[in-house]
Amino acid sequence: MTEKSKIAKPTSKVSKNLALAALMTFTGLIGALLLASLPQALADKETKPFSLTILHTNDIHAHDQPFQDRGKIVGGMARLGHLVRQLRKENSAHTIVADAGDIFQGTAFFTRYKGEVEVELLNLIGYDVYTIGNHEFDEGGINLADQLAKAHFDVLSCNLDATALPQLKKIIKPSVIRTISGQKVAFVGAITPDIETLSLNRDGVELKRGRPLQPDSRDDLSWVSPIKDEVERVAAEGVNKIVLVTHCGLEADKILASQIPQVDAIIGGHSHTRLAAAVMVTHDDGSHTMIVQTGNYGRNLGKLHLVFDHSGVINAAATRYQLLPITPAIPEDKDIKDYLERKGEPLKNLRDTVVSVASKDFDNNFRGMKTDSALGDLICDSFYEAGKADGAQITFENRGGIRSRIEQGNITLEKIEELLPFENHLVFADISGERLKKTLEHSVGGSTGGKFLDVHGLKFAYDSDRKFGDRIVFMLAQKAGEWQEVSPADTYRIGMTDYSFKGGEGYQFPDAKNIKFTELKLNEYLKRYLQSHPHIKPKYGDRIAWVNGTLLQSLLSDDFSSSNSFNHCTNIKVSIYTADKMGVSTVFSDGHVVGTSQGESEKRKPIVLPLENAEEIGKDIAAKHFAAALRKNDLTKKLKKYVALVVRGENHPPHKTDATPVYTSSKIIQAVSYPILQTDFVNAFHTAGAATSAR
Ligand SMILES: [Zn+2]
Repeated sequence: MTEKSKIAKPTSKVSKNLALAALMTFTGLIGALLLASLPQALADKETKPFSLTILHTNDIHAHDQPFQDRGKIVGGMARLGHLVRQLRKENSAHTIVADAGDIFQGTAFFTRYKGEVEVELLNLIGYDVYTIGNHEFDEGGINLADQLAKAHFDVLSCNLDATALPQLKKIIKPSVIRTISGQKVAFVGAITPDIETLSLNRDGVELKRGRPLQPDSRDDLSWVSPIKDEVERVAAEGVNKIVLVTHCGLEADKILASQIPQVDAIIGGHSHTRLAAAVMVTHDDGSHTMIVQTGNYGRNLGKLHLVFDHSGVINAAATRYQLLPITPAIPEDKDIKDYLERKGEPLKNLRDTVVSVASKDFDNNFRGMKTDSALGDLICDSFYEAGKADGAQITFENRGGIRSRIEQGNITLEKIEELLPFENHLVFADISGERLKKTLEHSVGGSTGGKFLDVHGLKFAYDSDRKFGDRIVFMLAQKAGEWQEVSPADTYRIGMTDYSFKGGEGYQFPDAKNIKFTELKLNEYLKRYLQSHPHIKPKYGDRIAWVNGTLLQSLLSDDFSSSNSFNHCTNIKVSIYTADKMGVSTVFSDGHVVGTSQGESEKRKPIVLPLENAEEIGKDIAAKHFAAALRKNDLTKKLKKYVALVVRGENHPPHKTDATPVYTSSKIIQAVSYPILQTDFVNAFHTAGAATSAR
């Protein structure tokens, strides 16, 4: 079968079709009867364009009931189910309903029923295909198998190795081929490679990795190989319409699209990205892969209407994508509503018990939040309270563990459950200052995602332009009531979740001592803290400062555009702050210094500085006149020991062809420089001044 192995590796849509043609010729050569009967049938099927509507969701996270979100009621599976059933009626033969994983974990429904309700909801609504998300392992692989045993839909994942768990292995299929109006469409499932660090409770289920596709790079793409192989396997069977259903995240989906061009569409999840328009990846031969994702929590139903030409290539112009918001305007289907009411009966007490009141929202809009968050700070404070008697000085909470936000108003037991839904516990342990630094370096390495730690008992600054492992500029912990630099040899008692402590998100504590595991669930500590703080209000960050070390140099170099961070920016203005101590403080854009985050304002945007009690000595100086302004106002005489700069401007990012809502318009940028010693600053300034005058 050398022909078969040759054609099993098409590299593009066009070669895919050549491969198909080759396969048909080959088949024809070996079967005279087939040769006689095939061409007419094929001609009929393949000359007509073919359309398929995929209705899809992802990351529902047990948000089975409608919920309050920024003052509006959204979501709810009885409404979503109604809409799905309605749309399916319009063209039932050509409609597929898909979910891209993480149906588990997020509300009291999951805490109580361990996934039973979510699987039953997908059954009731009539989903066709589903892929497993990382949170599906939150109650272990055995529980996952128990729950999915009741599924009436296809459970797809081609890169999970469940050999160690036969009861799960027999449920999972790598892919499924559906015949729709005589044409074959393959659905292939895949999970994020991050389960290796995200899901610690898999009961022996492993990620499949294959050959590295980029052997020399840090991400060698060995995780892509099993997915690529499965797509090539179905393509070799003659299927020319291939849809991935992935729980990998948008960035990984873009990699999959570019590495596996035979894929026509990717129904994505995991990154909770709301894509108002499909992301289109265009291949060398002009063919496309569409990537879609709906955000999370059943707020939207995705509707992807795909049109294929006679050879299975997507007609991009005819393809349509819509996100349909799930609002109270949509009726609730009675069978689903009744089911949820019955299951929700024992949870009523949680909904009705108010523990504390929030004066304002505590947001969980963490993406790109480079400083500490009010919500993360609150949770770390509650962990600190829990460990105070045990001598804890510093506590952490990773943002991936914070699953909801606090709305202004009553905080109920149910809300606390949703904020920290995990069946995790607190750990307290002694670690060295050196390990503390490694922990923070890991937190601020890479993008600010789920592994980023909010803190209590620490103040630190980091520079995300510096290389991974060397980003912490300074870190201060309290010693004898004073904020002092963390010493590598000193011992610090920390508290964090057992998830992070045992290696979740890649954290490592091999040398920890005096380890103490607590028995209560995490949210119990938050509950106790809120019970003793019946009124809370969000504070501005004063624990973690983000700095930009390349800023000062580029400012003084008279060649501002050379700084990567400020490419595509115009109208750049600089303010100068000074202080006698490093530390962290918040100022507002009007220059009002807040110090320890007391003030509040809706309009003024706070900036977190790497200085203690910063004083503003220069405001909104145009960047090109910066050196001259320093000279003219003799600002250098006002300098205390440390200096930080805040830069603002309008950001005009380059046009992106695969435009997602993230890149659409210009916005204000803000950046903070290093805290630099006055002497460094004066020297740099004089050097720059000399260079300017010499010209
Ligand atoms: Zn996920």
